[in-house]
Amino acid sequence: MGELTEEAKQRILESIRTVPDFPKPGIQFKDISTLLGNPEAFQLLMDHLEARYRDSDLDYIAGIDARGFIFGAALADRLKIGFVPVRKKGKLPYTTVSEKYALEYGFDEVEIHIDAFKGVEREKAQVLLIDDLLATGGTAAAGARLIDNVGADCVEACFLLELGFLEGREKIPAPVYSVLTL
Ligand code: AMP
Repeated sequence: MGELTEEAKQRILESIRTVPDFPKPGIQFKDISTLLGNPEAFQLLMDHLEARYRDSDLDYIAGIDARGFIFGAALADRLKIGFVPVRKKGKLPYTTVSEKYALEYGFDEVEIHIDAFKGVEREKAQVLLIDDLLATGGTAAAGARLIDNVGADCVEACFLLELGFLEGREKIPAPVYSVLTL
């Protein structure tokens, strides 16, 4: 299923910039803009994701606001399937379904259009959820619940980078695949 060599993983990892203390002290921010600006690393990643999901019989990719849109839309185009945005509260114009999730202090909320996955013949659309990074898992868990809440199947949640020590994958009600794990 298009396994990446250790050398390829290293190239992708080295293309991601770590910015200390952003957006607040103590956070090591993983900046994927440097990966996107590196055509060799970006293409290695997208070739790998295309090979992994080419025969998965997916109907849609759902990408999480905002960096999940970039990888998700690029992959949807390669697989010739639709793309659906999972957005932060208040951004989607039509009727939405929403899910709250806990942050360190307080709550955040993500939304999806109620009819996002209606364009398929089978009973439940088969959906791959994508984001750039899996940290505590709250955001992606809410995204997976949204997919379920509007009557589709979240067949896998896919991340470029997983911060394994935070054990976020335990929260996600779907299989998890991460290209790189720290
Ligand atoms: P979480 O809900 O804790 O898994 O956080 C995941 C979301 O926050 C993703 O949409 C990431 O883009 C963003 N995020 C969390 N931690 C980081 C980090 N260290 N570097 C870059 N993005 C992060």
